Order: sequence, then C-alpha cells, then structure tokens
Amino acid sequence: MGSLEEEKTTTGWAARDPSGVLSPYTYDLRSTGPEDVYVKVLFCGICHTDIHQAKNDLGMSHYPMVPGHEVVGEVLEVGSDVTKYRVGDRVGVGIVVGCCRNCGPCKSDLEQYCNKKIWNYNDVYTDGKPTQGGFAGEMVVDQKFVVKIPDGLELEQAAPLLCAGVTVYSPLVHFGLKQGGLRGGILGLGGVGHMGVKIAKAMGHHVTVISSSDKKRKEALEHLGADAYLVSSDENGMKEAADALDYIIDTVPVVHPLEPYLALLKLDGKLILTGVINAPLQFVSPMVMLGKFYVLSLSLSLSLSLLSQNPKSSLGIGRRWSNRSQVGSG
Ligand SMILES: [Zn+2]
Ligand SMILES: [Zn+2]
Repeated sequence: MGSLEEEKTTTGWAARDPSGVLSPYTYDLRSTGPEDVYVKVLFCGICHTDIHQAKNDLGMSHYPMVPGHEVVGEVLEVGSDVTKYRVGDRVGVGIVVGCCRNCGPCKSDLEQYCNKKIWNYNDVYTDGKPTQGGFAGEMVVDQKFVVKIPDGLELEQAAPLLCAGVTVYSPLVHFGLKQGGLRGGILGLGGVGHMGVKIAKAMGHHVTVISSSDKKRKEALEHLGADAYLVSSDENGMKEAADALDYIIDTVPVVHPLEPYLALLKLDGKLILTGVINAPLQFVSPMVMLGKFYVLSLSLSLSLSLLSQNPKSSLGIGRRWSNRSQVGSG
C-alpha cells in the first residue's frame, strides 16, 4: 500500500468517440489530499446517462471518458483529515464529486444544485485534470462525496441505489409521497423503473407498472412484485385505469406524449419526470390546469451526504429488499 503523496495510475474502460465502444485506458488519478479517500472499485452500475454521455447524445462529451457513477467498493487508504471512513470500509460514490462549499445549495447539503459542482466524470477537477468515473480499478474521491454502504446490503445491489435508486427515492420524499397506502405508477421498466417499483413497494405503495408493450409483464409482477401492469397502447385498459394514481414516476428517456399518463392521475396527482431527454417535451396545458395535476422534476433532491446520514434513506430502504433484489441497468 503506497502513500497518498504518490502518483497513482489506474485502468478503466473508456469511450474514445461516440461509437459507444469502450476500451481499456490507463491514466493518472488526480492528486490526492488530506480529505481524500482512495477507493478500490468492486462494482459499478450502468446508468442510461452513461450511455448518453459515452455516445455524446447530450453534445457535451470529452474523450477519452471513463463513465460510471453508481460506484461501490472498499477503502484502500484515507488522507490524514478523513474522519468518516477507515481502511476496509464498504463505500459508494455517486454522480457528484466536488462543489464550491459556500453557496446556498452547498450549505444546505444540496450540492447537486451548486453551479460549480463537479461531475464524477466528463468534467474537470480543481487540480485541472479530467474526472474519470467508476468503470475503473480505483478512484480518489473527497470524503464529502463518499457514502458508507450499510451492513447487510450486498455491494452489487447497493450500486444502482446511488443513481437510479436516489432518482426515484428523492422525489417521493421531496414531494410528500412517502407514506404507505399511496397508489403509484412507474412508467417505463428500465433501471430507474426497476428501482422505482422496489422502492415504492418498500414504502408500502400499490404499484402499477405502465409499459409500451406486454413484454415486461412477468418481470414486473412476478420478479419485482408490482401490483398491476398496464400497456399504454391498450385504450380500454388505460380508460379503466384513469383517475386512480397519486403519482407517476416517468422514467422514459426518449420524447413521448404526457397526456395519456396525466389522465391516470387523481386530483392533485403528480407526474414526476426522471428520464434524461435531449429534446423538448410538449403537453397540452389546459389538461394540466383542468385536472389540477403537477408536472414535476428534480435532480437528485437529496444529496448522497444526506442519504448517508439518514437511516430511512434509500440505502436503508435498499437494505430491506436487498435479499430479493435483482440488479438492473438503467
Ligand atoms: Zn456551491
Ligand atoms: Zn445515473
């Protein structure tokens, strides 16, 4: 085991152009400091954002790029001022690895809204080096952006909680949808949708999966434990299901009409957008006004640092279903 003063190198899987092909890439890890944690990556989820970024779908990719922002692993070394972690701890790293620490959001533990936040990859760190993500052997991360993985939660199952899990857990908490007995809809059953079903069920909700075809019915009902399954092209089924849901978490990462799903909501129902879509969405405003619906979105409204402090966080929720969870990509 070396010193934190030594330069470290690691090898990751890097995108080098928008083809979507990743190949091995060896690079220096950024200079480390007293607040840093050196992490051996053991598992990393694949989020749809990784695919968007690798393929430059958002038009802001810099190559070579090592994606991966659902990172879990083991602490190999800690800097002299690190108080929260020790060698051997099981930890996670999410999408943000730096912030200004002085603005309103930073002082409220909402650093994901900091205008100077630093992304886990495809960004530049304070030392001027590119940040690189978790599809790699190791990472060096400021302790502020590291979370402890609770005992009893398998590491590979913890990984998707660090983005997909937080993405669905956050709006449920932020918009007052945490109490048991609510009726929720999960639109789209990729990685975020998978997490949505599991977390909503762990909160005691009645969960309807809404999908464009019948292909995922068995997965939704039998594997993930959803209560109902609705095919969006089934006009009769959609009519019968109208006016029934307290919320829908819309995870679809491509342009789609919102009106058919707004019709499924009760009065004051909330349609929560979580898919990253690189084109404008449109909807008919009178439908929202007359139905008194809310169309909402947010970016990881709870920071990972808050999650690590909150025993009822999605990491805690995750522990409750870990023994029967399937790991998905999103
Ligand atoms: Zn800030
Ligand atoms: Zn993600």
